[in-house]
Amino acid sequence: MKTFTYRTATDVAQGLEPGATFLAGGTNLVDLMKLGVATPDVLVDVNRLGLGEVGDLPGGGLRIGAGVRNSDLAADPRVRRDYPVLSEALLAGASGQLRNMATTAGNLLQRTRCRYFMDATMPCNKRRPGSGCPAREGDHRNLAILGASPSCVATHPSDMAVALAALDAVVRISGPAGERTVPVTELHRLPGDTPDRDTVLEHGELITAVDVPSLGFAARSAYRKVRDRASYAFAVGSVAAAAQITDGTVTDVRLAFGAVAHKPWRAFAAEEALRGRPATRESFRAAADAELAAAEPLRDNAFKVPLIRNLVASVLEGLA
Ligand SMILES: Cc1cc2nc3c(=O)[nH]c(=O)nc-3n(C[C@H](O)[C@H](O)[C@H](O)COP(=O)(O)OP(=O)(O)OC[C@H]3O[C@@H](n4cnc5c(N)ncnc54)[C@H](O)[C@@H]3O)c2cc1C
Ligand code: SF4
Repeated sequence: MKTFTYRTATDVAQGLEPGATFLAGGTNLVDLMKLGVATPDVLVDVNRLGLGEVGDLPGGGLRIGAGVRNSDLAADPRVRRDYPVLSEALLAGASGQLRNMATTAGNLLQRTRCRYFMDATMPCNKRRPGSGCPAREGDHRNLAILGASPSCVATHPSDMAVALAALDAVVRISGPAGERTVPVTELHRLPGDTPDRDTVLEHGELITAVDVPSLGFAARSAYRKVRDRASYAFAVGSVAAAAQITDGTVTDVRLAFGAVAHKPWRAFAAEEALRGRPATRESFRAAADAELAAAEPLRDNAFKVPLIRNLVASVLEGLA
């Protein structure tokens, strides 16, 4: 592993050190450092910034500190009652030990599990811009079907981020230029010609919290994940859903898909197709198809199209 400097920050201003890489739970960053994929010069430990609380927002909703551990967030009674989709997504991710370390910000900013990205001996446009994308012709069974580019077909691996995208959560950011907010749906980028940039964050910007707005019908919400084995494993496909159903009609809905794109994929077209429609399996499948019409599967991942369609139908039938 490359030699680096380690510092601990005790307030946000101190953490905003130029050129620094932030260390939270370390469950992704330290692995990537050991593999030679991440090579920071300066690590700033952000675990003592006091960002480990979940608070109530004045108009309803929650402010989740960037440092809240995944296990604590999943167990929070307000999350379990008002946003079960978020609790379920967190509990579907990683293992108990990992969730005890992993933080809200670190989970959002974890990097792709594309095997070529994680192998420093291989070409990869995300790790080494311009070197190529072996995944397109190689191992891409678990890579993107939506929003990919000739440069990169990677997927974002987070479960939690899919639930936060469905819930219209907003990321709070502090940086050298001040504070700003970005919706979770706009935090992660599509790869385009610059897959080396995962998000719209500028270098040195620190996530301080994630706000989840009040959404009454999110009390009726769920996360469904398909993975290759029952023990901890990344998603092959997942769906986060919240639905308001009145007299057998879908009056409002939130839907997001995981493991299908370079970002958690908010399914706006499917939502539009569902509003005002009968809460039936046929409508649910038609809505999924409205979103999946844009899918461009690769040789070995076309199975994700029917997988997501079936997941949407199954999770919405459960909510109905
Ligand atoms: C074996 C294994 C299985 C896993 N399975 C799953 C799974 O099924 N589902 C899933 O969703 N995840 C899974 N994970 C990933 C795990 O959830 C992430 O590693 C974890 O959430 C990252 O959080 P962290 O706090 O440890 O981040 P770190 O590793 O500390 O950091 C990750 C990134 O976030 C940046 N960062 C951290 N905090 C901030 C901040 N406040 N502001 C700006 N940047 C910041 C770091 O600089 C780094 O780039 C798995 C991991 C492992 C090792
Ligand atoms: S899909 Fe993206 S991360 Fe994977 S090899 Fe291609 S460029 Fe690299």
